[in-house]
Amino acid sequence: MARIRAAVAREFGAPLVIEDVELRAPEAGEVEVTLDACAICHSDISFMDGGWGGELPAIYGHEAAGTITAMGAGVKGYAMGDKVLVTLIRSCGDCAPCSSGAPVACDGDISMDGPITLPDGTAVTQGMACGAFAEKVVVQPRQLAKLPDDIAMDVASLLACGVITGVGAVVNSAALRPGQTAVIIGAGGVGLNAIQGARIAGAAKIIAIDMVPEKLEIAKEFGATHGVLASDGKPWKEVAKITGGAMADAVFITVGAIPAYEQALRYIGPKGKMVMVGMPHSGAKADYEPVIVAALGQQMIGSKMGDVVLARDIPWLIDLYQQNRLKLDELISGRWSLDDINEAIANTKSGAARRNVVIFR
Ligand SMILES: [Zn+2]
Ligand SMILES: [Zn+2]
Repeated sequence: MARIRAAVAREFGAPLVIEDVELRAPEAGEVEVTLDACAICHSDISFMDGGWGGELPAIYGHEAAGTITAMGAGVKGYAMGDKVLVTLIRSCGDCAPCSSGAPVACDGDISMDGPITLPDGTAVTQGMACGAFAEKVVVQPRQLAKLPDDIAMDVASLLACGVITGVGAVVNSAALRPGQTAVIIGAGGVGLNAIQGARIAGAAKIIAIDMVPEKLEIAKEFGATHGVLASDGKPWKEVAKITGGAMADAVFITVGAIPAYEQALRYIGPKGKMVMVGMPHSGAKADYEPVIVAALGQQMIGSKMGDVVLARDIPWLIDLYQQNRLKLDELISGRWSLDDINEAIANTKSGAARRNVVIFR
């Protein structure tokens, strides 16, 4: 047992409470990671708001990087002192989705005994299989990816969710090809990564759509060739002008707002792909005219965590970063202590932030 400090959700819609919790030692097939950094993602906020249900008390946080400081029996491929990413992608390695190369869709047995309790013995939910708004986590090794020793840990933490979600949606889920046109709805933490994913994929035109003019400027730094203000009524008309009427080959919805989902098909042409990345609250529904999708041969694609395969994609992304082809440092808009996490979350909620990162040490 280790006593650690954590930011605990006690009540939906309320600030997190900074307090001590107990983390049990890793059992067979588990590792303990002492965290250096954990970025704040909109999924953490959806859980905090009660948008996706779940038991309280809970510790969220799932975009983390740290160092392995304890290992249970039988863990292969890792050693004490390894620097690693911690992701929410727990996979069994054996089920049908895992065997077909889709670990994000794992439906095998990935349960583990909850490692976190309050000092009085009350169980604490390990949010998103991580519970990384805390000084340490105990997780399964398949959730990890190794990091080089010389990468800054705050920068590395971003690779665990926002970067793979955005870049992966373009490269893996949509398989965008060189010369194609992409529309990215939302130029926030995930949207900027979809934009740089489209740049890396060789897109000819990359059109960012956002409500905030400053965010369109930032989008251009990440590779957007055009920016269209969403408050302009019918932004797809601007996209029609930019594309000479052809519209986009793929549109990526990186926000959770239902109107964005309902309007997204307007941005793509025949055979175009609508890629759903942002996650609305449970129960939210969107309206479509199926006849249009059918008649135009369009595709509607769900994309979770960028369909990432950690062992394949993380080394590739680190390589791109080291070649200055993937921007990571520029994604961080604020660094915060655990004590100030509620301020950091408020800043993320305001929509002004790229990524806010909690620094533990
Ligand atoms: Zn996330
Ligand atoms: Zn599996």
